[in-house]
Amino acid sequence: MDFNVSERMQTVIEMMNEFMEKEVIPIEREFFHHSFTDLYPVLNEKREMVKKMELWAPPHPEEYGGMGLDLMDFGLVSEALGRSPLGHYVFGCQAPDAGNIEILHLHGTDAQKRKYLQRLIGGEIRSCFSMTEVNMPGSNPTMLETTAVKNGNDYVINGQKWYTTAADGAEFAIVMAVTDPQAPPLRQASMIIVPCDTPGFNNVRNISIMGHEGSGWHSHSEIIYQNCRVSQDNLLGSEGEGFVLAQDRLGPGRIHHCMRWIGICQRAFELMLSRANNRYIAPGQLLSSRQIIQGWIAESAAEIQAARLMVLHAAWKMSHLGQKATRTEISLIKFFVANVLQKVIDRALQTHGGLGMSDDTILSFFYRFERAARIYDGVDEVHKIAVAKRILNEFEKRNVR
Ligand SMILES: Cc1cc2nc3c(=O)[nH]c(=O)nc-3n(C[C@H](O)[C@H](O)[C@H](O)COP(=O)(O)OP(=O)(O)OC[C@H]3O[C@@H](n4cnc5c(N)ncnc54)[C@H](O)[C@@H]3O)c2cc1C
Repeated sequence: MDFNVSERMQTVIEMMNEFMEKEVIPIEREFFHHSFTDLYPVLNEKREMVKKMELWAPPHPEEYGGMGLDLMDFGLVSEALGRSPLGHYVFGCQAPDAGNIEILHLHGTDAQKRKYLQRLIGGEIRSCFSMTEVNMPGSNPTMLETTAVKNGNDYVINGQKWYTTAADGAEFAIVMAVTDPQAPPLRQASMIIVPCDTPGFNNVRNISIMGHEGSGWHSHSEIIYQNCRVSQDNLLGSEGEGFVLAQDRLGPGRIHHCMRWIGICQRAFELMLSRANNRYIAPGQLLSSRQIIQGWIAESAAEIQAARLMVLHAAWKMSHLGQKATRTEISLIKFFVANVLQKVIDRALQTHGGLGMSDDTILSFFYRFERAARIYDGVDEVHKIAVAKRILNEFEKRNVR
């Protein structure tokens, strides 16, 4: 097993770390106190700097202006950028665009690629992914109410979605809708590109999340599709292939999220260390002198390292053996890392006392917004059930003494 990081990647990560420290983390305070859309001018400035440094769009194809990094290398990058909630956006590899780019690149027609892919990778436009519905369980996505019915050369889409992240200001949505209700459950739905200015695409509201409505890329919308008509040329892949495409999107996407979360863990951990080393809790006695805090530090260090190695291993396995062979590892990291994230943030916040609850550090932001990690891209419980079933099945064939 080789744990070496190539010379090129060491340089790339060093450059990114430096940029994050000097250019991105200092503007976070603005992010806490202003609407995300107010930050576009300064964020665009930073994005131009990243492009000049040739560090733009790390996981995306070189032919479209990305760096073309493989999953392992992007995993390392994602940890560096994950230290700030603005990191992935500034470097042009933010969700949900990254996943949509993957689908368009793998399954888009030439015309769809010409229309959307170059501009999406270049950061000129944004997109969103619209699958979860208000009245149906997102944890069982085969139960969808939204339909896309053929009419002439078009599809007419009707349905109510929510949690469509970053729909506010997006150029187009990739919508999951039922195209054949008579087909077996996993063949009923298709993915369709819907430009957000299509009549009948109604962005009803930005859902308030933990007291924050958000705006632009940093928002989650409820959308009502009301006789929303688009050409059948907007179908992605073939009809009935929606869930196959969703798997192509979710596998690498979960690795990206997990490595981003490790970046958050590492930052929260460093803040905890700094606070413990500087806060006096009795004359001459630092917080770091207390065993309970030392216990949190040791546990956090072990959990972060375990999480990092698990994710890098999953990325390696997916690159070498493919997505199907890596299903168990992907589910393991999805719930394991999301829970490490919660614990590390919570300990760091507790170590800061009242300061942790304030917006004077990044910790309260992480605490509010990263709770969702245990819900999106598959709730903990569903991943655990899937893993346990697979392990039990494999074990059934064994003769244990
Ligand atoms: C911040 C955020 C961003 C999101 N972004 C997007 C997006 O861009 N696009 C999109 O389409 N969706 C998005 N989602 C939606 C997300 O994918 C769903 O919330 C998720 O799939 C869960 O679906 P649900 O909310 O309908 O919960 P439900 O399916 O109703 O489940 C509720 C709870 O029931 C439990 N549960 C469910 N199934 C089982 C089971 N089999 N066994 C035991 N317990 C179970 C779990 O505890 C689960 O949390 C986002 C969600 C959040 C919070």
